[in-house]
Amino acid sequence: MLSFIYLYCMKSAKLPSVAKGYFAFSMALSSLMLAACPVSSQTYDDPAIKAKAAEIHAAVLTLDTHADVPMYMVSHPRFDLSKTHNSRTTGSRVDFPRMKQGGMDALFFAVYLGQGPRTDSGNAAAKRRAKVLFDVIHRNVADHPDLAGLATTPEDAYALEKEGKRAVFIGVENGWAIGRDLSLLKTYYDWGARYMTLSHTRNNDICDSSTDPKGAEHHGLSAFGEEVVKEMNRLGMLVDISHTSDETFWDCLALSKAPIVASHSSARALYGHRRNLSDEMIKALAAKGGVIQMNMYTGYLKSENPKRVAAMKALQKKYPRVNELTDAEREARSAALQEINTNYPTVLATLQQVADHIDHIVELVGVDYVGIGADLNGGGGVRGMYDVSEAGNITYELVKRGYSEEDIRKIWGGNFFRVMKEAQRVAKELNYFPRR
Ligand SMILES: [Zn+2]
Repeated sequence: MLSFIYLYCMKSAKLPSVAKGYFAFSMALSSLMLAACPVSSQTYDDPAIKAKAAEIHAAVLTLDTHADVPMYMVSHPRFDLSKTHNSRTTGSRVDFPRMKQGGMDALFFAVYLGQGPRTDSGNAAAKRRAKVLFDVIHRNVADHPDLAGLATTPEDAYALEKEGKRAVFIGVENGWAIGRDLSLLKTYYDWGARYMTLSHTRNNDICDSSTDPKGAEHHGLSAFGEEVVKEMNRLGMLVDISHTSDETFWDCLALSKAPIVASHSSARALYGHRRNLSDEMIKALAAKGGVIQMNMYTGYLKSENPKRVAAMKALQKKYPRVNELTDAEREARSAALQEINTNYPTVLATLQQVADHIDHIVELVGVDYVGIGADLNGGGGVRGMYDVSEAGNITYELVKRGYSEEDIRKIWGGNFFRVMKEAQRVAKELNYFPRR
């Protein structure tokens, strides 16, 4: 429950109702992130492992399928992707120099929307917000053609890698971005989106979320949601079931003609959060050729200090609607949050715990169905992989655990790219044989 509240508190900051209030809240968000201790006790300096890992890390294309960089850029208008930032003092976990430093070749930037009102005006606001986030990605990438480029296919990413540039992919997080307008899928596809996470932490018109306190509304996909999945298949846009309920997962798996993905999720067998995927789900996902990308959000990886849980619950009870607070309430809430962070700081999960999830999935279904989706700047970041500059530690940990170069190539992007290509193949087939 705490993890949900924690997530809610962090992610709800992304939809400002008042810009000034939002700025204050984003400051509180930064302090919340900074309250967690980034120092790792694990070291990554065994010379033999380090040398082998460095060689492999440089040889394979590295892809992370989920980062909330656009949200950070919108809330920090002076942020410059081409400059190096200190994650501890700025809260930023990703920029182009740190991607290069960490050997991260490609990253999905999320067009993220916290769930808002499912009314005509709410849906219109979601569409406007999505446009702002697409624009900020396009503009920031276009501003630095020497450092990065937009990518929509695996081939784009390989070409950019060859030029020594970062590849920026786009994914939409929360199907609320289309409201009830199917045609927006094509619009977002044309703007570069290659996956859409069907929901966030609340139910929407497409499907049920895994964490809506009201519980199931559609019992999986709605009738409209079924049309959404069909249209995504026709476009070749990946159906992303991270955040959605189990019933939604099973509906998508049954309906989708292309394999489906979890862009940032973990294994429920290792930590029993309903946002994670059960072994049964992972087996079924793999059987249809999909992939699950490892989230690095502490709330989905380990239990929290019960005192912090209680304090955060009380805070949420006192301020249930974060987006609707007055400036004074917002300030009072920020102060209370600071106090909680001082008294009960979050102790981050470790990269070893993340690697345990990888091991578990590999033992369950093999190495072809797992990847990395760290959720940096969306609450993700663990000890050992606190920001993107530490991405090399992931390879170190995998080498240490005995994974081969070929295994690591698959985990680092090969698996996800296989699914992207399959979605494109299915789209071609569907368009060759038009619907009657
Ligand atoms: Zn998310």
